[in-house]
Amino acid sequence: MRRIALLGSTGSIGRQTLEVIERFPDRFEVVALVGGRDEATLRAQLEHHSPALFGLAALESHDELRTGAALLLEAAVAQEVDVVVNAVVGSRGLAATLAALSAGKIVALANKESLVAGGALIEKLLPDPFERAQRLRPIDSEHASMRQALQGVRRDEIARLIITASGGPFRGRTRAQLTDVTIDEALAHPTWSMGNRITIDSATLVNKGLELIEAHWLFDVPAAQLDAIVHPQSLVHAIVELVDGSMLMQAAMPDMRLPIAAALFDDERPDAGIARLDLAATSELRFEPVDHDTFPAVRLAMAALDAGGSAPAAYNAADEEAVAAFLEGRIGFLRITEIIEATLSEVGAEPVGTLPELSEAESRAREVARSLIDRT
Ligand code: MG
Repeated sequence: MRRIALLGSTGSIGRQTLEVIERFPDRFEVVALVGGRDEATLRAQLEHHSPALFGLAALESHDELRTGAALLLEAAVAQEVDVVVNAVVGSRGLAATLAALSAGKIVALANKESLVAGGALIEKLLPDPFERAQRLRPIDSEHASMRQALQGVRRDEIARLIITASGGPFRGRTRAQLTDVTIDEALAHPTWSMGNRITIDSATLVNKGLELIEAHWLFDVPAAQLDAIVHPQSLVHAIVELVDGSMLMQAAMPDMRLPIAAALFDDERPDAGIARLDLAATSELRFEPVDHDTFPAVRLAMAALDAGGSAPAAYNAADEEAVAAFLEGRIGFLRITEIIEATLSEVGAEPVGTLPELSEAESRAREVARSLIDRT
């Protein structure tokens, strides 16, 4: 029986994680459930599970429930926990990831900020890439697929790791055509249904930039060997290009329960209820290059990764600020990546050896991004 701590239980990934767990009641036991602020959803989850530790991390106080961000850390290191599923949204997920890894737990990671901002800190904690791959299980379709495609592949056989991008709702458009796009247009993702920030990040391709940075830390491959390709059908998720010119592609229906199940089980392929991909009924699988002029986010992410230190964290922080401002109607769509670029060139790359140093660099990037937004 694997004992699970689920952080971020009330969000989309959290709820789907419980769906997977509930399919295998003799394999998993939920021993900690920490939600965000959605009390009704947490209460419903407590009807099916009896964790020793539960509460709402994004609330300050409550008459009956435990609250506060410290709950995340408590659950991450609790003695009885084997696997910590980190589905927390935002930068506060990183401290939980570091705490869980330090405590020897397996971490199933849906929190992007952990690797994007904290990749260097995680590497310091787990310097051996093999151990890192064992202990950190990505809950993201591209990385979970890459992990599968890499099985049996030696490090020196890899030419490139390529992740696919749906291209978002604005695929094929020029910069001029994106000047006046609305919030609703940007939120209409063609193939995945997700939260607001990640949906905007898919429209700008910032999400692919973040995922390439994550791939660097997960698979120990330098920026020069990482690439993204547009694949509108979202059926092929990851491609390993080998040195002999052959390619290993992983394909499946787009369903987050597949990466969740892959992260929770070790070397098994459980039936998590995923619909079968009917290739004969799939009229086409198209691939196109990323249009880096219209969507500079991937190029900026690779530059941030090359710069190292605090630069990837600044990339993420500036994007968070810019997306929030876009969703409030304060800036146009194209300004999002312009603000990331301007923030990066202003804050540069500071060395980061500790979590407080990283948080400080992040706050500085946020301030710079906010003042750029105010000047828009
Ligand atoms: Mg993804």
